[in-house]
Amino acid sequence: MTSAVNIQNADNPSTETAKVNLLGMSQEKLEAFFAELGEKRFRAAQVLKWIHQMGVDSFEEMSNISKPLRTKLAEVAIIEAPKVLKQLDSVDGTRKFVIQVTGGSAIETVFIPDGERGTLCVSSQVGCALDCSFCSTGKQGFSRDLTATEIIGQVWIAAKSFGQFGADRPRKITNVVMMGMGEPLLNFDNVVDSMNLMMHDNCYGISKRRVTLSTSGVVPALDKLDGLTDACLAISLHAPNDELRNQLVPINKKYPIAMLLASAKRYIDNLPDNRRKITIEYTLIDQVNDRPEHAHELVELLKDVPVKINLIPFNPFPQSDYKRVSNNSLYRFRDILIAGGYITTVRTTRGDDIDAACGQLAGNVNDRTKRSERYKAQAVRFVNNP
Ligand code: SAH
Ligand code: SF4
Repeated sequence: MTSAVNIQNADNPSTETAKVNLLGMSQEKLEAFFAELGEKRFRAAQVLKWIHQMGVDSFEEMSNISKPLRTKLAEVAIIEAPKVLKQLDSVDGTRKFVIQVTGGSAIETVFIPDGERGTLCVSSQVGCALDCSFCSTGKQGFSRDLTATEIIGQVWIAAKSFGQFGADRPRKITNVVMMGMGEPLLNFDNVVDSMNLMMHDNCYGISKRRVTLSTSGVVPALDKLDGLTDACLAISLHAPNDELRNQLVPINKKYPIAMLLASAKRYIDNLPDNRRKITIEYTLIDQVNDRPEHAHELVELLKDVPVKINLIPFNPFPQSDYKRVSNNSLYRFRDILIAGGYITTVRTTRGDDIDAACGQLAGNVNDRTKRSERYKAQAVRFVNNP
């Protein structure tokens, strides 16, 4: 565990707690902020561009804002991203950032280059409360939601590290997936605000077809998403029936598969462009959910839902005794889905050498649930008594 950082305001990593941090503010919130200062609303768009297109973090540099207003802003506000504790670069080009957040924890963000495409995998919470049986983040327990500043701050930090800020610089981050640590729908408002900043024309301007929210199935929150964002949706399914999914994804006991798929379908059907598909994520674990009968059952289950399927070979981590799917089972599973008419891709493992692969993001969670202690004790028992 890192030593606790004694800061009251989670959005102000500096000691200047009285000042408001503008980094995570939506255009609407910035407009309200300027209105309160007695300034014109259009200042919000200007400041958004300076922060998220030019990568500026001092008011001094905002040349289209008058000197007196810049001085006034510096008195009441800051633009401050969380601190990067470590940047790790994999031999395959994957880059991982370990980022300090207040409360003595660290989170992780991963950039995965793939030809022209560069995908940033962003975290939404410190740890995760949902405890899926195959996920390293879940085993760390849960500390708290990330603020909007800490979520969009991950994009800002990565963009800065690639020198992509400023006019006409090549854009390295073309896609964002909310697939890092945490369950995005359990941190609803901050995630929605941050995703909207990612897509906003005054900010990163990433296409709505290239920003994806991934959820393990918090149905009431998914039902609320309609109209608030038009990002893509990924569902972490991992099993073709409730009996098996209950064991892997405990939240399924509350919101079973039929309910989840119906909710996901409503969201996608209500998007203005009606050709979009839901991504189904399916982590393949040896001898658990990788049998041909599981694949056939999945073909049947999804036949009325517009989906594409992404198969993820399970990535092992110390607190788990699950094993990666064999290549034979993986390709047999994939071929059954393709024969069933589904677009099916296999996610290649990237950034393995820097523990940046899917499900390996652990950060350093100041766990409030005591779950991490329990898993550590279990791991010790397992090692001593395999
Ligand atoms: N909480 C959200 C988003 C974060 S998890 C969700 O569950 O969708 C992102 C993806 O990584 C999920 O599909 C998850 O199932 C997958 N994942 C988690 N642990 C994994 C592991 N050990 N190996 C491979 N994929 C894993
Ligand atoms: Fe949380 Fe997603 Fe991991 Fe499940 S898979 S424990 S929901 S981060």
